[in-house]
Amino acid sequence: MKHGRTFNFSAGPAMMPEPVLEEIAQEVLNYRESGMSVMEMSHRSKVFTAIYEEAVADLRKLMNIPDNYKVLFVQGGGTVQFAMVPMNLMKNGVACYVDTGSWSGKAIKEAKKYGEVKVVASSEDKNYSYVPDCSDLDIPDNADYVYICENETINGTTFNKLPNTKGHILVSDQSSMFLSKPCNVEDYGLIWAGVQKNVGPAGMAVVIIREDLITDDVPDFTPTYLKYKTHADKDSMYNTPNCWDIYCCGKVFKYLLSLGGLEAVQKLNEEKAAVLYDFLDSSEYFKGSVVKEDRSLMNVPFVSPSADEDAAVVAATKEAGFDNLKGHRSVGGLRASIYNAMPKEGVEALVKFLKDYEASK
Ligand SMILES: *Cc1c(COP(=O)(O)O)cnc(C)c1O
Repeated sequence: MKHGRTFNFSAGPAMMPEPVLEEIAQEVLNYRESGMSVMEMSHRSKVFTAIYEEAVADLRKLMNIPDNYKVLFVQGGGTVQFAMVPMNLMKNGVACYVDTGSWSGKAIKEAKKYGEVKVVASSEDKNYSYVPDCSDLDIPDNADYVYICENETINGTTFNKLPNTKGHILVSDQSSMFLSKPCNVEDYGLIWAGVQKNVGPAGMAVVIIREDLITDDVPDFTPTYLKYKTHADKDSMYNTPNCWDIYCCGKVFKYLLSLGGLEAVQKLNEEKAAVLYDFLDSSEYFKGSVVKEDRSLMNVPFVSPSADEDAAVVAATKEAGFDNLKGHRSVGGLRASIYNAMPKEGVEALVKFLKDYEASK
């Protein structure tokens, strides 16, 4: 790694691609002879309008987003979406949620403020170590949508097959897997992702929403800012947007296109994750926490024989120059988050370290 940078295995904020950071560094004082930094720029200026339009166009190209979907940049990070989804989409006051761990739990808790939440499947019985079968869910006819957290960042599971929603709208929190592999946008009514896991700086979410779901038909109490329509009508510039974040995300979109798009990104991610999973599968000392079929390409929780030993391993990795391998406080153990921007060499170096550690036991 250049510039004295460390392999940062954090679940978020996470690493950004080094070539992107270098480009940003070059442009930070004076963006392309505009005489100012993007941080200082009016969101209504010609220069920024071009940055915004290019970011949206590049994301559309990357994900092959159909014309009847809008791309929105909404401030407030991921958590605001837990409220915006039910506020805007619960027309009948009933929604179905699949409970696969911490982040779907938070979404469920928030949605209950706005209507009836039906948990139609859960993996709580086995500590969220798998994704429940969602091929034949009991979905009431009047359900407004079916909600999933497509990749559970803390528990390390991922949906390899989307639920059968029986014609209902699918809403997905893709925060920790956004742009990690191809996505068929038409399968969803709404996709959202907090950007600090796989794209840019924290504090903003990308929302991809089918146009017919953008309506004024929301409860009277809905704050103006929390209506999708407010953002859709004003091209995400109802108020001052986070121009810096949009600029950084746009750079990452372009970078992923330059790698060959999401098929190429998926291939890289699969090769990278295999290095770690193959090691965990062969280790006597470490053990992955998730069943094989449902494990995430992005977040890899694992354990050593005891909590004390987990803590010792975390300390040793830190000493060796790897950062943020401690598992989330709610589940313990260790977790390596290996998002798009984590180089394969980072995972190889970690595995070598863990192998040596095991051999010394
Ligand atoms: C990080 C994360 C969030 C929350 O994002 P914030 O920007 O911190 O609010 C929500 N869902 C998932 C799956 C996440 O990984």
